[in-house]
Amino acid sequence: MHTTPQAPIEMDAVFPQLRAFAWITTRLHPRKGSPSVEQSSVGGPLLWPANEPWPTCEGGGLEDHPAETGVPLVPVLQLLADDVSELPFPEGSDVLQVLWCPFDHDPWDAPLPLLRWRRRSAIGPRLVTMPAPHEDASEWYVPDACVLDPERVVEYPSYDLPREVWSQIQEAARRVEADNGWEYDTDLAVASGIKVGGYPGWTQSPDWPVCRCGVRMEHLLTVATWEFSRGDEQRWVPLEDRPAMIGWDFDSPNDHPWQSLQNPAGLMLGDAGGIYIFVCTSCPEHPYDHRFDCS
Ligand SMILES: [Zn+2]
Ligand SMILES: [Zn+2]
Repeated sequence: MHTTPQAPIEMDAVFPQLRAFAWITTRLHPRKGSPSVEQSSVGGPLLWPANEPWPTCEGGGLEDHPAETGVPLVPVLQLLADDVSELPFPEGSDVLQVLWCPFDHDPWDAPLPLLRWRRRSAIGPRLVTMPAPHEDASEWYVPDACVLDPERVVEYPSYDLPREVWSQIQEAARRVEADNGWEYDTDLAVASGIKVGGYPGWTQSPDWPVCRCGVRMEHLLTVATWEFSRGDEQRWVPLEDRPAMIGWDFDSPNDHPWQSLQNPAGLMLGDAGGIYIFVCTSCPEHPYDHRFDCS
């Protein structure tokens, strides 16, 4: 069980201008574990048809590693409709899988993701052993296996908040910070960590992809390096994990439990950045795109 603390104020009453911007995100709360192929996971084994070739890097936009064309992609996420039914599953599918190439690709020097939507009952005989990551793949780009515990929380935009609304809430935000010590951007707005839906966990200005049909794509999910960062302790550390966080800081030794809570998958995407995956649900084949940023 992982519970995000409530804000110490009534958001609707203090920030009525934000009501229309409230979105629900599903924090996945990855924790190191041994997920089975039948479970939702980060970095776990995937439900994969035995007769379907494992995807490999096609080499497009590969930087410095032309020899790595053809390397196997690595499992990043498997999400079952049983656990995250709010995903926009295309008709007839109930599994979402995200893989990526663990080498740097243009234009952001970051892994290149690939999505597969499947129907569990149609998979048939399953692949038993996933290919091992290429020996030169950075361990920072190969997520450690984690089990998930989805939790729905309400978010409000930070980078995505229109400038004119920001100026309307500025005064109230200052008061809340003075009275409660909670900052709008870090504690009240966008949930950090690996999550589905809600606002992208941008660390830079928003850059929403537009589908070829002309529609702005929807934020499908964020794969963030950290579950929370300094300054996020007020809000995004689950209540159940707080006892283990006592005395932590960024200089704590690696065997301090904070490391397994703050970075359970052992990722380092650029400078603690994130990969944001977007999808167009107006087009039947659900085209997708991604963005990467970091601090
Ligand atoms: Zn590649
Ligand atoms: Zn489209």
